[in-house]
Amino acid sequence: MEFIISRYNPATDSEPYDQTFILNASDISPGMMLLEALNKLREQDPTLTFRHSCQEGVCGSDGMNINGKNGLSCITPVASLSSPVMIKPLPGMPIIRDLIIDMDLFYQHYKEAEPFLQTEPLNLQQEHLQSPEDRAKLDGGYECILCGCCTTSCPSFWWNPDKFLGPAALLAAHRFVIDSRDIKTIDRLKELDDPMKTFRCRHIQNCTNACPKGLNPSRAIQELKNFIVKNHD
Ligand code: SF4
Repeated sequence: MEFIISRYNPATDSEPYDQTFILNASDISPGMMLLEALNKLREQDPTLTFRHSCQEGVCGSDGMNINGKNGLSCITPVASLSSPVMIKPLPGMPIIRDLIIDMDLFYQHYKEAEPFLQTEPLNLQQEHLQSPEDRAKLDGGYECILCGCCTTSCPSFWWNPDKFLGPAALLAAHRFVIDSRDIKTIDRLKELDDPMKTFRCRHIQNCTNACPKGLNPSRAIQELKNFIVKNHD
């Protein structure tokens, strides 16, 4: 099986280039995931560089562009991929080396969403209770693993990476806006009421399409926009 992998070492390369690797059929086991294949390819060339950690689709560190679609290598079966397999770093972010991108801006936007419970008084001795119905509203929001597959697939983010918060940050913002225990809902909505931060989203749906956890950031952003507009009344 052929793999065409984007390579870039800022110390020696002026721009990224493609390198072709071959994995023999005898090295491909049934049910093998792409991450395992990449580990085998790295035995051929130990300079091949990519992030990975849990290997279970939980840490979110091995996001990459696989045959044109963002995803996690550890939960992408090799058998599901057509050869040659084109592998590139997640798009729209500076490349540090090979498949490793600089996620600083992504985390800055996440921080801007204030993804933590704000309540008064903050009680660290016991739980802040909520009804099972209110808890159920958080399903589809809290499961995000911050892999960045959504934000880096979003044209609105590519065009305005410094101004548009992007799907992952806005999904997190939505998760705390709808949390019945949070007392900063109005402040949060005012902060998000901005043509670039939030309303730059055009619902292209790439984010929802890319999310390896099956989440729907586009729907959450639409709801967030509705809350912001209602907050004008
Ligand atoms: Fe990754 Fe999905 Fe979270 Fe986006 S919403 S960062 S794609 S887990």
